[in-house]
Amino acid sequence: MALLEVRDLVVEFDLPGGRVRAVDGVTFDVGTAEAVGLVGESGCGKTTTALAIMRLLPENGRIAAGSVLFDGEDLVAMKPGPLRRKRWSDLSIIFQGAMNALNPVRRVGDQVAEPILLHEPTVTRRGAWRRVGELFELVGINRDRRRDYPHQFSGGMRQRVMIAMALANRPRLVIGDEPTTALDVMVQAQILELLELLRSELGLAMILITHDLSVISETCDRAVVMYAGQVAETGTVEELYRRPLHPYTERLMRSVPDIGNIRRLPAGIPGHPPSLVRPPSGCRFHPRCDHAMETCRRTFPAERSFEPGHRVACHAVSDDGRRRAPSELPLLPSARALAQLDPLGEMPTLLDGAAAGLVAADGEIEGISAEGPP
Ligand code: SF4
Repeated sequence: MALLEVRDLVVEFDLPGGRVRAVDGVTFDVGTAEAVGLVGESGCGKTTTALAIMRLLPENGRIAAGSVLFDGEDLVAMKPGPLRRKRWSDLSIIFQGAMNALNPVRRVGDQVAEPILLHEPTVTRRGAWRRVGELFELVGINRDRRRDYPHQFSGGMRQRVMIAMALANRPRLVIGDEPTTALDVMVQAQILELLELLRSELGLAMILITHDLSVISETCDRAVVMYAGQVAETGTVEELYRRPLHPYTERLMRSVPDIGNIRRLPAGIPGHPPSLVRPPSGCRFHPRCDHAMETCRRTFPAERSFEPGHRVACHAVSDDGRRRAPSELPLLPSARALAQLDPLGEMPTLLDGAAAGLVAADGEIEGISAEGPP
């Protein structure tokens, strides 16, 4: 049994324009001491999934269906009292943007001590203060800085404070919600190294949320690729890099700059993620997919497993686990246009005018005809 089992999770928000399903049937596992990355473009439901796991959704959000089993106990069905005791003690979260997550008028040491005092009534104030000192040293901050305020720290140091806070109650699972966003690359590398070190030293399981595939490749064992609130593909990081089956996964991989090829800009993914108020029918990626067929427009592809742990939801993948090439498929006109734009597997970038073709409300690519770029 995995430490965390997320099953068919559905999260909805009530907005002035109607009800939006931000997470739709998400399923994945996290094993003990395993690091799993949630990856996808902004707005694909990564953070909402994390907040749902923690049961920290905003007031207008609710878990409409599914379960989140932590060590066999369903967090979705749990009453608020037991749930509060589980949060921070068993699973915790490192929030995005350390400056916003920390209280600017309280000393950082007091803020890190707070969950210790709240969740462990037998620990004295002095004991909590001592543990904060140990945590600070663990994450590379001098313990004398417990009395400082957030504005006295750099961005990277504040993020270390947030990591110390997430570890305060010695949880078994930590969720890092874009823990390196807004940090420069050197500090980013230090924070990732720190997370990796803590994971191996403390045996922590980790969910890392990011849109940066290089972060996933450096720190995670497996990755869950999300698109428009749904899971497109799940597998080991190596499998997803070596043999991505879902066209969206492949596009994401090719969006990463290649430092070995300075003359080529990274390929982008044309169009934008869809609005979840009125998502496209069938496969939600079909307006942007160069493998899209009529069946993709009509039917949502069921998830299938090909190798142990490698699951994909795509009509273009045959039963023997091979993704068919666009030339083998009865493509939609929009997909034909995209495939023609990308004959050698090189998608144009946003610097190329043709690639700025946007996805219209009906799901077609504007400015690109079936015959090719204008
Ligand atoms: Fe979706 Fe069809 Fe493209 Fe697969 S081939 S990603 S099912 S649109």
